[in-house]
Amino acid sequence: MDAQRTLRRSISCAGIGLHSGKKVTLSLKPAPADFGIRFRRTDLGGLEIPATVANLGGIQYATGLTRDEGTVDTIEHLLAALVSRGVDNVIIELNTPEVPIMDGSAAPFIYLLEEAGIKRLSAGRRFLKVTRPIAMSHGDKRIAIYPSDHFKVTYSISFDHPLLRHQARTLRVTEESFAEEIAPARTFCFLKEVELLRQNGLALGGSLDNAIVIGETGVLNALRFEDEFVRHKILDAIGDLSLVGYPVIGHLVAHRAGHALHTAFATRILEETDAWSIVESPSDAAVGVPLAQPASSAARLAN
Ligand SMILES: [Zn+2]
Repeated sequence: MDAQRTLRRSISCAGIGLHSGKKVTLSLKPAPADFGIRFRRTDLGGLEIPATVANLGGIQYATGLTRDEGTVDTIEHLLAALVSRGVDNVIIELNTPEVPIMDGSAAPFIYLLEEAGIKRLSAGRRFLKVTRPIAMSHGDKRIAIYPSDHFKVTYSISFDHPLLRHQARTLRVTEESFAEEIAPARTFCFLKEVELLRQNGLALGGSLDNAIVIGETGVLNALRFEDEFVRHKILDAIGDLSLVGYPVIGHLVAHRAGHALHTAFATRILEETDAWSIVESPSDAAVGVPLAQPASSAARLAN
């Protein structure tokens, strides 16, 4: 049996929200089996917002969740770190609505998880194993998932900018490959967008300390990888896809997608109940009976 995981102990850090610019304290706490990943707003009386597509909220430059009067924003990098370490159950406490941006990557969250340690629980994990392709597109943005024995991501991007024309990468996602090849890749933006973002009250906490900024004639900070941009898109996609509520076994392929399409696709996957099975091991033959419940209750089950 592949055991569900949580953290060995609680851990905290402080930072600022990329879009709000506000100081925030983030605490990660152990949770029991079948609890799922839930955000908890300590400034709103402990309001809990489970990290599933059922609670999808504002999505433009980052992924957010909404439940009752509470929201959480910019959740994707932390979620990607959690799923890559196989953390199924955790309480994520925040005292403001936005997860701290840290250095714009998932590397600080991987470090936090190393410090907290991983604990195996007595209950078994369940995986969502894709059994037939699912695809979605919006204009020239495309995303699909295909049957595979592993969780893999292929991503390609292309921009109408001399410094960032085309990048593509395929990765089999494991704890090691994520930590080494994907987690350090930082978020990026174009210098010409920054003013517009700020006029809209976004990116107020953004700086060269937490984002790669691409100017007309050069990148304003030193890159960590030559193709750091597409690596960061893989990071975002892993975080957004985690909102299906199960670790996914399949090959995700995306071209020029973003948070809106990633999260709409996570919702679509749960709706296409004949395109996947819930299995107890990634190597199980996915020929079992698909989950009988409709997608919404499947999402709740995963909480
Ligand atoms: Zn991102």
